[in-house]
Amino acid sequence: MIRIKNFNVPFNDQSPINDLVAKRLKLPPQHIDEVVIVRKGIDARRYKGAPIYFVYILDVKVNIAENKVLARLKKDKNVEIVTTKKADKINCQKSKTSRPIIIGFGPAGMFSALVLAKNGYRPLIFERGSDVDTRHQDIEKFWQGGQLKENSNVQFGEGGAGTFSDGKLTTRINDSKITDVLEAFVEAGAPPEIKYLHKPHIGTDILRIVVKNIREKIKALGGEIFFNSQVTDFIIKDDKICGVEINHKEKFTASDVFLGIGHSARDTYELLYSKGISMEAKPFAIGVRIEHPQDLIDKAQYGEDYKSELLPVADYSLTYNNRQKGRSVYSFCMCPGGQVVAAASELGRVVVNGMSNYKRNSGIANSALLVNVTPDDFGHNVLDGIAFQRHYEEMAYICGGRNYHAPVQTVGDFLKDKVSDDNFLVEPTYKPGVKICNLRECLPDFTTQMLAEALPNFDKKIPGFAGEHVVMTGVEMRSSAPCRIIRNRQTYMSENIKGLYPIGEGAGYAGGIMSAAVDGVNAAYAYIENIIE
Ligand code: FAD
Repeated sequence: MIRIKNFNVPFNDQSPINDLVAKRLKLPPQHIDEVVIVRKGIDARRYKGAPIYFVYILDVKVNIAENKVLARLKKDKNVEIVTTKKADKINCQKSKTSRPIIIGFGPAGMFSALVLAKNGYRPLIFERGSDVDTRHQDIEKFWQGGQLKENSNVQFGEGGAGTFSDGKLTTRINDSKITDVLEAFVEAGAPPEIKYLHKPHIGTDILRIVVKNIREKIKALGGEIFFNSQVTDFIIKDDKICGVEINHKEKFTASDVFLGIGHSARDTYELLYSKGISMEAKPFAIGVRIEHPQDLIDKAQYGEDYKSELLPVADYSLTYNNRQKGRSVYSFCMCPGGQVVAAASELGRVVVNGMSNYKRNSGIANSALLVNVTPDDFGHNVLDGIAFQRHYEEMAYICGGRNYHAPVQTVGDFLKDKVSDDNFLVEPTYKPGVKICNLRECLPDFTTQMLAEALPNFDKKIPGFAGEHVVMTGVEMRSSAPCRIIRNRQTYMSENIKGLYPIGEGAGYAGGIMSAAVDGVNAAYAYIENIIE
């Protein structure tokens, strides 16, 4: 294969890719057999008046000798010959007689289950929430003003926390298993372009189908999944896991248990702590969601081309640092063309997040604006972060009117520390409803101070970002886990309980769908290969 890197194509050049490649390689088009897109990103910097480009990495199959093609492009560092790497062989060391247990069917649990099932280990999966269809109905009812179901909501249920999300698959980790995860998603019905887009996303509508298909695949391979099945106790003997108790009733024995509980299972964290499992407090973040007309963001990123249908809806990534204070404000989980969602999982508490459909066509952009918090802010005891989260979620519930409506405020009012304006630039999308409040009442002082410093700075980067009537909704709290379940780097096993594998976001070793999924894959391989210290 010949690889072409940094291949810039003006976004509005709609020539067939084979023709563009032939020109780039100085070949007649009939010598190009196949072009595979390895990566496609967008360069919208418009440096010195340059157009907006799609930037490709392409693998090209030609029907003449590759070295002859390269000989003509000698000085071109962006063209090279590449060989495809063979997949690593898995060395199944672990006996297949006993069945491993997996707790939680979010990305971490799902992908560890998939790897185990594919290799002949028939995992038993326990998920406290409902299957994705029932869960969808429960969430819709809650958003229409019904009761919050404590075990079937935006955090809990089949697919885990990210099922009702934007389904962004971007990650900062660099791990060869990323390709495997993306391939599994595509096999289960995700759009094929996620394999090469620089910023891939699935959207909640497609993700719900994908999750079901992965579940069926695991079942077809011999795995079993039990919904509405909360792990309520861990059976531990001589520092070794021996099984779990489900819904305070049934007991299941197992010598190996994967713990993929996510960042919101506060009761399970309390249980683990009471059992003496090694854990520590860790930093996380707190803030608000901000909403803008999607056009405002598109215009800032794409300039005069912002209306072009050839360009995807634009996103952004903003950061502001105050080194003296050791704090930063950053945009997080930006959802173009999406909506703000009620993401509570505990009664009497309000917490927000964001999601979008595959088409990202709501016309409204939202993003979290978060400020980092550390154990110095809330306490160094393992469960102090949870108490801090609960306190501010309760404040938001009270400010919102004690009916799961969320507190909202315009940026203008927030900066002036007053409550008056209901003239929103876009109507807040949070359901079941909102109440105009002073967001300062449900955020710590250091957070409001940092947001007040950062907003004018962000406005310079995206004109209108901190406009008078831009709406903010509170509070955002579940961007990462408040504690870590300490494990061994090689074996993936708990530091002090043999056979217990803490995985994914809840264990404190991942942040986001992709890194949680990859963590689940790696832990499953460590188990299969029976890696010992
Ligand atoms: P989770 O997905 O949280 O799964 C844990 C599962 O364990 C849950 O289903 C839970 O019900 C179950 N569980 C917990 N305790 C027990 C118990 N005791 N017994 C049995 N089951 C239990 N990330 C992205 O990368 N891109 C995004 O676009 C994105 N958007 C998001 C939008 C929203 C609204 C939310 C809430 C999150 C979003 N995230 C996003 C974050 C992402 O969802 C998480 O990082 C990811 O889901 C973590 O995976 P996990 O498997 O570790 O945990």
